[in-house]
Amino acid sequence: MSQPAQILYIEDNPDNQRLVQRVLSARGYQVVIAEDGPNGLALARTSHPSLVLVDLGIPGLDGYETTTRLRSLPHMHGVPIIALTADASPGSRERALVAGCDGYLSKPIDARALPAQIAEFIGGRRERLPETMETVLLRSYNQKLVERLEARVRELTIANAQLQDLDRLKDQFLATLSHELRTPLTSLLGYLELFDRGLLGPLNSQQEEAVRVMRRSGEILARQLNNLLYFQEIRSRALNFVALQPLDVLRPLIAMFRERAAQAQLQFDVVLPDIQPIEVDRSAFEHLVRNLLDNAFQYNKPGGKVRLIVRDEPTRLIMRIEDTGIGIAPAEHEKIFLPFYQVDHSLARGHPGSGLGLAIVRHIVEAHGGQIALRSAPGEGSAFTVAIPRRSVGA
Ligand code: ADP
Repeated sequence: MSQPAQILYIEDNPDNQRLVQRVLSARGYQVVIAEDGPNGLALARTSHPSLVLVDLGIPGLDGYETTTRLRSLPHMHGVPIIALTADASPGSRERALVAGCDGYLSKPIDARALPAQIAEFIGGRRERLPETMETVLLRSYNQKLVERLEARVRELTIANAQLQDLDRLKDQFLATLSHELRTPLTSLLGYLELFDRGLLGPLNSQQEEAVRVMRRSGEILARQLNNLLYFQEIRSRALNFVALQPLDVLRPLIAMFRERAAQAQLQFDVVLPDIQPIEVDRSAFEHLVRNLLDNAFQYNKPGGKVRLIVRDEPTRLIMRIEDTGIGIAPAEHEKIFLPFYQVDHSLARGHPGSGLGLAIVRHIVEAHGGQIALRSAPGEGSAFTVAIPRRSVGA
């Protein structure tokens, strides 16, 4: 048995959709409905209709434009496109034909005549305009298209400017908020440290424990605020490239993380060869390594390992940060670099974070003309590899 002929019907009115569906299905056609032009185009690309019925009055990309676009799809060549319209004004039939339609049916739909009309077009009937008329109409159709395009570009330009204003306001708000929060937090943390070190008098063991918890929470908050401020800063300023001996930044960071490893009972191994100086933004370079190591420790498992492997190549510096932690599912590999994105897995939920660390890392790597790659599997750990090119070599 042969496949039933498929009719693609582009129409936003549900009553008409139902009517055509009912009338044509009863004659053995398979009717596929699209509610607007873009959906109609998507359906035409994936299916192979024998005929397209298009309402000219659909909102958005209108029926004329949809027809012109359908005509440009290679496999739609030769497939009849029939306009359906309530517009009975003079010239409307000609406008439909010049946009690429092969026929024109007026609304309201004549349910009795429709199957025969459809069969005729599938059988080869085509309506054509006289050539001289077509040239004149094509010119005015093109002008209309360009006018619509111009109006859309104007609207989008205004909308884009408004979005940029809002984005700037949001940045200002975040920067002000983080500044306002950081100042009182610094004094809170300062006094907590004095308590912790016993400089404000002796504490009993319960008080000592309470002060330690408060200090830890305050430090987490400070880290969040710093990331928020740094995220604003790094996106709004140019990098300050200086020739830097990477070991001057890496060694103090490594010492700090060794301490953290001891406290967290994690193993921290470092492969650090001699490195030639490289031109980078010093604070950005430090943030980059710190954030990646921070995550490797933060998302680890009890008794796990972290490894920092540095390789000095003539044209670039490679740093690889590996952990044996909770890992990241492949579907998240791209998303974790988006600002404020955090993976919602139960293992990580206990970790405080802002979701900005990797967005900052990626921005820094790209601003240095470098690349970052991730290999990770859930439950097995993660490896982030960063390559920073040497600017002077070959430049
Ligand atoms: P934050 O750590 O502040 O949440 P990041 O941008 O640094 O933000 O990381 C985004 C998310 O990526 C984290 O919430 C975490 O789920 C995941 N992630 C980052 N690094 C690792 C890692 N080494 N192992 C497992 N998950 C990670």
